[in-house]
Amino acid sequence: MVIGILAVQGAFIEHEKILQELGADTIQLRQKNDLDRHFDRLVLPGGESTVQGKLLKDLGMYGIIKEMIEDGMPVLGTCAGLILLAENISNDTRKYFQTLPVTVKRNAYGRQLGSFHYDGEIKGIGVFPMEFIRAPYIESVAGGVDVLAETDGKITAVKYKKQLGLAFHPELCGDYRLHKMFMEL
Ligand code: GLN
Repeated sequence: MVIGILAVQGAFIEHEKILQELGADTIQLRQKNDLDRHFDRLVLPGGESTVQGKLLKDLGMYGIIKEMIEDGMPVLGTCAGLILLAENISNDTRKYFQTLPVTVKRNAYGRQLGSFHYDGEIKGIGVFPMEFIRAPYIESVAGGVDVLAETDGKITAVKYKKQLGLAFHPELCGDYRLHKMFMEL
């Protein structure tokens, strides 16, 4: 299995290490040409969604990746990656792939709670150590979206078709179960 990891900005190295440890081959997607290489799955890492979104468009990668996801490529979006997938962003007029029918709120926990840890239950997995860093949460989901986790009443993990969207950073907590779930989507 070859997993393409978007590597224009943000926390992509951590995903790469985990997926390789789990036995996958990985490639970094840094420029348009990289999208010509074969990969079966896609990771959109955390970072800054506005920067990633702008780079994707400037580098000519945006439309190609959007089409790949629409055509059913399994994708894991964490934090900024979740924002890139979301159909709506309630506190921002920018929109990106819009393949995941949810509404997210960016930087939703405010400045004081910029970064925190929470051990929360994930459907099908159990208690999972969640790292939130200037995280979004999911305000609402459309029918057909499977809510996998609610953290203090806020939706923080969803699955829709072959898209897994997480508000937190599973690549920073030493627990590989969500990456395994992604590899089995
Ligand atoms: N605050 C970032 C954004 O809005 C997301 C933070 C993250 O990916 N850790 O894009």
